[in-house]
Amino acid sequence: MTARPDIGIVYHPDFLIHTQDYHPEKKERLLAILSLLKEEKLFDRLEQLAPVPARVEEIGLIHTESYIKYVKEMCERQRPYLDPDTYLTPRSYEVALLSAGAALTAMRSVMNGRLKTCFSLGRPPGHHAEPNRGMGFCLFNNIAIAARAAMEEFGLERILIVDWDVHHGNGTQAAFYHDPRVLFVCVHQSPAYPGSGYTDETGSGAGTGYTVNVPLPAGCGDAEYSAFFDEVVAPLADVYRPQLVMLSAGQDAYHDDPLAGMRLTFAGYAAMARKLKQIAEKHCSGKIVACMEGGYNLKGQAEAVVTTLSELGGWGRPVKNENIPATGRKDALGVIAKVKEQSLALLAGKVDTV
Ligand SMILES: [Zn+2]
Repeated sequence: MTARPDIGIVYHPDFLIHTQDYHPEKKERLLAILSLLKEEKLFDRLEQLAPVPARVEEIGLIHTESYIKYVKEMCERQRPYLDPDTYLTPRSYEVALLSAGAALTAMRSVMNGRLKTCFSLGRPPGHHAEPNRGMGFCLFNNIAIAARAAMEEFGLERILIVDWDVHHGNGTQAAFYHDPRVLFVCVHQSPAYPGSGYTDETGSGAGTGYTVNVPLPAGCGDAEYSAFFDEVVAPLADVYRPQLVMLSAGQDAYHDDPLAGMRLTFAGYAAMARKLKQIAEKHCSGKIVACMEGGYNLKGQAEAVVTTLSELGGWGRPVKNENIPATGRKDALGVIAKVKEQSLALLAGKVDTV
């Protein structure tokens, strides 16, 4: 073990304040991750960073002033819901600022060279939050805010965001739909919430070709997700040459997740993390910033997060074995092949002009 870890997490106890007992996106998700890290004595392998709340101007890198004000006022008035899926507590606004702040801390720790990899454990999650509305348990789009800040503060022009949460990252897509400075590559179950993320959503204007959606039928697992990386993410990264790799790390494609129907195992998460790391090492000295998104099987999502951290950190922790039959969906491989062809054709000849 090196004296000083080059991988870290961002955590703050206030992330536990935003919670609702009977809602799947509750504080116990984070507690399960922390207790697994503690149980396995893994904290000494991780730099632990504390976030500061994002400033309103930083939230404003992605969200409209009126929406930010709306969230604040809804919390002040103690309204219990932002939309039917998305609860609020009186302190959710300040916790959401802290969650976005955690993504910013993770991004800065990697961009200023302190760490190679940093995983924000911020809650509430963010990838469904669009510039002018929150939804799907998300208030502010943590990863999008951090990506925009990376452009502003470090002059980045090519950021790869991979979103492996089981749901389409509609908020992140909306934030960068016109912007070639983010290549957004999103694999998700379809049909499913939020109902977007089809293959013909490819970006617009200068951003055409820089949004890549891979909608897969329920029932896909390790084989299809590996193919997604090998056939779509890796070849696109070779063309795009990202200066930073970011990950919307949802753990709800896990086979025993109560909200979705995919069949990923821990071995699948390990393989994806390894492939992501290879891509980052090839193109940007291994720089990876991950932000926690969904994942609702408490034990399963905790194990998937720790498996991901272990692979990104190169700890050699054995992958927990599960007896799950292998998947092999030809229809899914057909979608992956189609997206590969389409997205490479759209990007061809464009990237050099970015
Ligand atoms: Zn999700």
